Parts: sequence; structure tokens; C-alpha cells
Amino acid sequence: MDAPALPNPDAIQADGLGCHSGKDTLLAAAAAAGKSETLAQYARDYPLPDGAGPHDQPQSMCPAFGSLRVGLRMRRTATILSGSACCVYGLSFTSHFYGARRSVGYVPFNSESLVTGKLFEDIREAVHQQADPALHDSVVIINLCVPTASGVPLQLLPRAINGVRIIGIDVPGFGVPTHAEAKDVLAGAMLRYARSEAEAGPVTAPRGGVSEKPTVTLLGEMFPADPVGIGMMLEPMGLAAGPVVPTREWRELYAALDCAAVAAIHPFYTASVREFETAGRCIVPSAPVGFEGTEAWLQAVGRACNVPQAMIDAAKNKWLRAIKGALAATPIKGRVTVSGYEGSELLVARLLVESGAEVPYVGSACPKTPWSAPDLEWLQARGVHVQYRASLEQDIAAVREFQPDLAIGTTPVVQAAKQATVPALYFTNLISARPLMGVMGAGSLARVINSAIANKARFQTMREFFGDVGSGDKAGVWEGVPQERPEFRAETRRQVIKIQKRRKAEEMI
Ligand code: SF4
Repeated sequence: MDAPALPNPDAIQADGLGCHSGKDTLLAAAAAAGKSETLAQYARDYPLPDGAGPHDQPQSMCPAFGSLRVGLRMRRTATILSGSACCVYGLSFTSHFYGARRSVGYVPFNSESLVTGKLFEDIREAVHQQADPALHDSVVIINLCVPTASGVPLQLLPRAINGVRIIGIDVPGFGVPTHAEAKDVLAGAMLRYARSEAEAGPVTAPRGGVSEKPTVTLLGEMFPADPVGIGMMLEPMGLAAGPVVPTREWRELYAALDCAAVAAIHPFYTASVREFETAGRCIVPSAPVGFEGTEAWLQAVGRACNVPQAMIDAAKNKWLRAIKGALAATPIKGRVTVSGYEGSELLVARLLVESGAEVPYVGSACPKTPWSAPDLEWLQARGVHVQYRASLEQDIAAVREFQPDLAIGTTPVVQAAKQATVPALYFTNLISARPLMGVMGAGSLARVINSAIANKARFQTMREFFGDVGSGDKAGVWEGVPQERPEFRAETRRQVIKIQKRRKAEEMI
């Protein structure tokens, strides 16, 4: 094996690098610092569109939040960040906003400790301090943008300290496009570690004991009732639902690997899929959503697990009629655009279409992968425009073009839609927070969606009432009635033009 690359302190010339510095600057610095191989793997795993993609810069939250969240949600796991203080402030704020009950570890640095290599020594010391087997199964250390760009070599950390596993990962915003994919970076690294342990000898059994039935591992964070519902659907085929990856505990990783098949419910877990495939597991795309989605998924899972057709048919007979009934009992009437960054956007769109909604556009910040191919094909066959790696601009343009009765989207999409008096729902808080799979999923979206659509008149009333208050030059907090001062703007413009002309003249001398 080649010796790991050593850090190159000369790779960065200043400690002010960050998302504002531009992707090219950071990529060049990271390559010079010996991170080319890691970044090349990320480029293969998380591809961007040719040319200037929408995620050249993170458009939403810092991608590293995905890895941080996976670490913070695991029992007996310490998660430490290495990065600029402003990044760590934002990330720890967001994690506590989303209910982390754990401290976020932090190894601070300054220009001196970065360029002299002292930062790596500080990280090593922090990892040793946290590696207490009475408290932790694993310690995760995450390099953010600046330490990645300067080549802080986490791969030189010990693989284990006192029996506590040490997982070092680089999660730069200029290499991992979305926080969804950052979940995969950590989940994949953990699966890889656990796979090597399982290959080396006996490992800890799951907390509830080893399943008597063959299991199907579920890839992707989902509403807590969904794995239970999936387990019930698998039961007539003699199968059981296995762990959900990212797991909540280290020992679940072994059980996840020890499965009959893996269901890629969320389709962006490329590194995790690689680990499962290396372990000889087959991957089933799509998910059991709606009538047709569930029918195809049960068939695919049954086949992947060598279940006799009669048992697959028994599962279909048991569940499909109930799903059809639930969809018919809770129809959705209206035009809905869908956009998000969770990876489940295509599944939500399928469910909406089967519920009777017209869905002209689905935008996902995640890339196109083989594991959403059946959903893409199904949606395109029904005239839905599917936009992978969708930018905020594309999502908002879709709302303008299709004038939906409801826009489902991220915070800025929802804000833009509401300003245009289009009812809107947040994908993360309101759509991902309910079951989507099987019978439970079939009726769960209708109530929230139909009541949001019925709110259209309220938006119009509000618009008429507020007029243009708080918009344009009147935005912000005012003690009196805002006065528009177009002459100030004209004067500033005149001055800027004058300065530009003077500079140009000086350049020509
Ligand atoms: S770590 Fe996140 S917040 Fe910090 S510079 Fe990178 S992308 Fe931006």
C-alpha cells in the first residue's frame, strides 16, 4: 500500500478560505495538499452536471451537516469537527436546532497551527481524549473545507484507540455537493470499517438478536413508521425489515451488511452501495410507494431474495388492494410542483400522481443514479419533468411557469411561492415528517396537501392587505414610514461609474 500523503501547508496561502473562495481555488489547494484521490472519488460518487453546475457553491446549508447529523444520531459515538470557527458555529447551531442531544466536538485552529501541522497534532490529542471505551464505540472526526484544502491527513490517525474505532473523513463543500450525499460519506466509511471487522472474525450481534428470517436492509433516513410498515409488507414473503442505514448504533452496521438484499429507498447512497456490493449484496431500486410502486418493489425484492412467486403474489394480494382503497379514499385535486434536497422527491411525486394530483415538475438536488431509475421512467411516462441537481433558480422558474395550486419545496422556494400568493409547503418539515410507504403512505399526504391548496384565498387576501409593504427599498425595520430616496441611488451610481472610468483611464496609461 502507498504511504498516505503528507499535509502540504503551502497549499493554502491564507486561512480565509471557505465557500466564498470559489470552488476552483479550494479544489486546487486540496489537490496540491494530497487530497486528489479523495476528491476524485467524490467526483465519481457525487457527479455534477457538465460545465457550471448549480452546486458549484453550496446553495443551501453547509453539506457537512449531513455527516455531522449521522454521527450525532448514533449511540456511543463522539463527533468532532475540524474547520473554521464560523463554519463550526453554523453547523453546531443547526444540529441543535434539529434536536441533537449531544455535544459537537471542535478542534480549533489558527493560521499558525494550520501551516505548521500543529492542527493535526491537536486533532490526534482530541481523538485520544475522546477514545474512552466505557463511553464510545467510535469517534468521528470531520475535516471541513479549510483543513481538507490544506491536506490535514486524517488517514494518519490510528485506526482504533483502546478498542474505540476512529473514523476520519473529509467533507468539504467543494467536493460533496449536498448534505444528503454527506450522509453517505460517513455511512459509507462506517460500513467499510464494519465490513473489514466482520471479514476478520466474529462481531457483536444486534441488540434484539439475529433475525430468524432473511432481512432487507433499508437505505435512507425515513419517517419512523415506514420501516415498520415495510416489515409488515415483507412478512408474507418470509422476509423481515433489517436495519435502516445510516444506523443508530455501531453493531447495527454488521446486521445491515448481513442481509439478503438492500433496498435503496433513498437513491444517493453511492459509497454505501459500494460497500454492500463488495459484501455480495444485491441492491433493489425505488421504494414501495403508491399502488404501482409497491407492486413493482415487492416483485423486485422477492426476486432479489429468491422468494417463490406464489409468496410474492401473496404479499401483493395482501397489501395492494388496501393501498388502492386508501388512495381512492383520499384523492388530491390540483397541480403540485415538488422540489427538495432529501432524495425522496421522486417518490413523493409518484404518490401525488397516484393520488390524482397533476405534477408537472420534480426537482431534486441529488444526482441521477441507477436506484431512482424506475421512478424516473414512471414519472417521465406520465409527462412529469424530472430535474436532477436542480438549482434554486430552476425550482423557482418551475413555480412561475406552471403556476401550481401548491408548491412543495425548500425554504427559499416556499418563500418565493408564498410571495407570489401560491400556497406552499416545506418538504423537510411537512412532507418528510409523515409516512410515505405502503398503506400508511397512501393516505398520509392528502390531508395536509388538500388543506394547503384550500388556503389560496388567504394568500390573496394577505397580498391585498399588505400590498408592497416591506418589499424592495421598504424592506427591513423602520421607525417611521419608509421614504424612498431614488436620488441617493442615482448619486451612488454616478460615483461608481466615475470611479470605474478613472480606473480604466489609469490602466491605459
Ligand atoms: S465547511 Fe461548510 S460553511 Fe464552511 S466553508 Fe465549507 S461549505 Fe462553507
